[in-house]
Amino acid sequence: MNVRIDEVELRYNGTPVLRDVTLEVRTGELVALVGPNGAGKTTLLRAISGLLAPSHGAVYLDHEPVASLAPRAVATRLASVEQAIRCPEELRVWEAVSLGRLPHLGRFEVLGERDRAIVMAALERTEATVLAERRVTTLSSGERQRVWLAMALAQEPRVLLLDEPTSHLDIHFQMTILELVKSLAAGGLTVIASLHDLNLAAEFADRVALIAEHRLVGCGTPAEILTEERLERAYRTRVERVPLAGGGFLIRPRPSRAGG
Ligand code: ADP
Repeated sequence: MNVRIDEVELRYNGTPVLRDVTLEVRTGELVALVGPNGAGKTTLLRAISGLLAPSHGAVYLDHEPVASLAPRAVATRLASVEQAIRCPEELRVWEAVSLGRLPHLGRFEVLGERDRAIVMAALERTEATVLAERRVTTLSSGERQRVWLAMALAQEPRVLLLDEPTSHLDIHFQMTILELVKSLAAGGLTVIASLHDLNLAAEFADRVALIAEHRLVGCGTPAEILTEERLERAYRTRVERVPLAGGGFLIRPRPSRAGG
């Protein structure tokens, strides 16, 4: 499914946060949103999922404006994993992940065999099967992060929005989760993920969208967008792009000299 962001302006209480954002993410693409804290990545994700109405422009899923779709119609197309998700204290992990099936069930309909199989597969893919009987509130931040992704996968979306999906993950799970997301994208899922880690963005994203100074600075391949010049300006810090032997590069901040 195609996501088209067309001349979008987003405001909070009348104050513009992002202006004139135009970006198309095609079926099966993995696009990383990068940019400094407070640049508007979360805000843009909220607009794509229809939670925040643009003050100008529109977001389309294929040819349908998100704003014209009922919440349930959005939820059968798009799943979003936000940073802070609250859930009832007593909920067990398998119950939380089962909630991902709700948009697909009729009123009063309970989970069928196929739904249960989808829930189990989602737990397995996120290596969360061992957590199934645990109460969500007893999980570590990283465990919880995988459970929310499992819930989103159980939704069987065609568009997946992820807000900092690796922020609490150790290096094993950073790789597991991003490799999973990448393989889902290869299978036709459209993925838009905000990522703080520029090297993970460079490694996994087909394209990188850099947001800074209230606008989309550019969107292109990681090599095109993650240049020293662009990053230094966006993040107001000195960075070095180090070429790697087998191709690719590593971005690292340049420490300022002692006393300098
Ligand atoms: P990012 O995800 O890139 O760190 P956000 O989208 O969370 O940035 O925030 C963009 C800007 O909007 C920030 O200046 C933030 O303080 C502001 N902001 C975010 N949410 C709200 C809100 N609910 N009300 C007012 N301002 C907000």
